[in-house]
Amino acid sequence: MSENERRTCMVCGEPKDEGMTIVTEFICSSCESEMVKTETEDEKYPFFVRRMRRLWVKFHV
Ligand SMILES: [Zn+2]
Repeated sequence: MSENERRTCMVCGEPKDEGMTIVTEFICSSCESEMVKTETEDEKYPFFVRRMRRLWVKFHV
């Protein structure tokens, strides 16, 4: 049984092997680049903020 470094992305919820881990949460590289180019006026922005809030909560605990 081979152990793969696949983790579930906290944003898109899909198992990916490329991305970064912040504290305990994993963000795949496609979501990361998506977030970087999302403007605050973008309709997708609140979605990312909501997802990321879980992270900030962990950071501040
Ligand atoms: Zn993702």
